[in-house]
Amino acid sequence: MSFSITTPIYYVNGEPHHGHAYTTIAADVLARYHRQRGEDVFFLTGTDEHGTKIAQAAEARGLTPQQHVDQMAPRYRELARAVGASNDFFIRTTDPEHEAFVQGFVEKLKAAGDIEKRTYGGLYCTACEGFWYERDLAPDGTCPDHGIAPTWVEEENYYFLLSRYQDRLSEFFRAHQGWVKPRSRYNEALSFIEQGLDDISISRSSVTWGVPVPWDEEQVIYVWVDALINYLSALTYARPGEDLTARFWPASLHVMAKDILKFHAVIWPAMLMSAGYEIPEGELIHGYLLVGGEKMSKTRGNVLDPFAVIDEVGAEPLRFYLMREVTLGQDGDVSMEGLRIRYNNDLANELGNLLSRSVSMIDKYREGTIPAAPAGEVLQDVAAEGEAMVRASSARYDADEVTAALESIWEYVRRLNRLVEEEAPWKLAKDEAQAGRLDAVLHGLAAGLRLVALAVYPVVPATAIEILRRLGQAHGDADLLLEKAVWGGLTSATVGVAPPLFPRLEAGA
Ligand SMILES: [Zn+2]
Repeated sequence: MSFSITTPIYYVNGEPHHGHAYTTIAADVLARYHRQRGEDVFFLTGTDEHGTKIAQAAEARGLTPQQHVDQMAPRYRELARAVGASNDFFIRTTDPEHEAFVQGFVEKLKAAGDIEKRTYGGLYCTACEGFWYERDLAPDGTCPDHGIAPTWVEEENYYFLLSRYQDRLSEFFRAHQGWVKPRSRYNEALSFIEQGLDDISISRSSVTWGVPVPWDEEQVIYVWVDALINYLSALTYARPGEDLTARFWPASLHVMAKDILKFHAVIWPAMLMSAGYEIPEGELIHGYLLVGGEKMSKTRGNVLDPFAVIDEVGAEPLRFYLMREVTLGQDGDVSMEGLRIRYNNDLANELGNLLSRSVSMIDKYREGTIPAAPAGEVLQDVAAEGEAMVRASSARYDADEVTAALESIWEYVRRLNRLVEEEAPWKLAKDEAQAGRLDAVLHGLAAGLRLVALAVYPVVPATAIEILRRLGQAHGDADLLLEKAVWGGLTSATVGVAPPLFPRLEAGA
């Protein structure tokens, strides 16, 4: 079984910000989860490097567009690495293989009779790199995403006859009810289609920084068309000498923020239908990270720098915080203060402390060796609840509900903390008659924590591996498979006492 997942390719007109980090983390969590299920996974991310805004950004810096993108792309590669992304490939739209593929793709649209040359006029937002219908603008006539007035642009361009696909798109939507998630975004895309689709320009004659239209070198392909095709082109050259298209297309899931829904849920499927490709199986549309209730944007000057946060607290707490705090599909307010509270409460107090206590009690009362659970003293409830937690969190990851998966896992973390309070191993240790009970409790804590590590691995992979390491458990890729998440699958017995997994963060630190 294969699972292919993508982030949008990020536009390199500015520095990476938290929005990019959030999308990449969300996609990475799902990629890791599907690898844990033993699936053949391909996780793609990369950079979008053509178009007017790039040329303008380069000019402002006194660079050629190529120099500019060659400086910016590594920042986005670095972001993927910094957040712990396990992407299988990083595509750049200036890769010659991609550019050649894009030309071949638009030739297919032309061969299908879906391209026409026309004079095109429309309201164009340079920040979106996109045209707006007047009816979709803010009441003051500005772009609702950027708050700036679009300009009237008129030129002779090649058109993609999107209007021809209106019925087929509607039918596709009706036959695939859940293909865009959440439901509100599915409805939004469908109603956009059913309002009536206009044909769209897919080339520019006034722009030079882009992929030339293969039959007319005076024009370059519109940056959005160029960008969308990356999801397919990457499969043809990600592994030298191998074409992965049959293995990983259609994509299982495109992950993105809601501002690019229309491109992905309306234009992209129509382009694929025209060129003769299958439609992706799903699209997951997440909300915005807000700061004090406002969208983060360069224009508003409230952009948080993910690199600074990672320097301060590490990538794993950032991954945990964003996935725990902001439900995929909804907007969510984020702040350093919020991160600190989550960190101290969930990671330091509840999980980190549970691990430290368990390991140090095994060290103190059983000389560092996890005891076997004596027959008749097995903690049936704790065992059953642990396996139920794995099933519940898996079902939630399967539904792309990462926040809910974490809630299930933390319910069980709190259950294990209660076990410590209720059984009071420090009292059991004083009574030789209770030795069997103490063995059962210590064994139960280790076995329960192992299940927690496997369940939480997609969100905080390094933490999960560290928990297994401290419990003396095997932690290679094969040991992380979900099929191994059964009670009592302890692979060895010697624990290692170590400093706290999550030292508490002080306010203002
Ligand atoms: Zn805009």
